Amino acid sequence: MFNKLNNLTDEKGQVVDVYINIASNLQNESGQTANGRSTINFDGNNFISMYGVNTTLIELNSNLMDFGRYLSHEGGHTFSGVKFLNVLNAWYNQYPSARRGNGHDEGNPSGDYATEMEKVYMRNKGLKR
Ligand SMILES: [Zn+2]
Repeated sequence: MFNKLNNLTDEKGQVVDVYINIASNLQNESGQTANGRSTINFDGNNFISMYGVNTTLIELNSNLMDFGRYLSHEGGHTFSGVKFLNVLNAWYNQYPSARRGNGHDEGNPSGDYATEMEKVYMRNKGLKR
């Protein structure tokens, strides 16, 4: 997963840098404590975050016991959201009631990929013990 994030390109082949912030008191849109959050803004041409053009942001809660687990999860959202933005947008068009900020309504390809990447991380970690 980390290698994928390090070599991330968008659908036009442009390199997209992923910034990772550790935040205390991280919250989701509903104001609940969140383990991690991916902010992926596409302006029609480029992905943009507070770090500039061709960047996205992952935030992780500072009190996590296992940063790798949630970085894998958020990395899954970020990777699929950047690499397969058209697939994700097509899915949202098909299911207009799905919540944009949530990412885990049933069948959401971004949420499915994030969950899968988290599972892969946990599996790999288990093998190394
Ligand atoms: Zn998620």
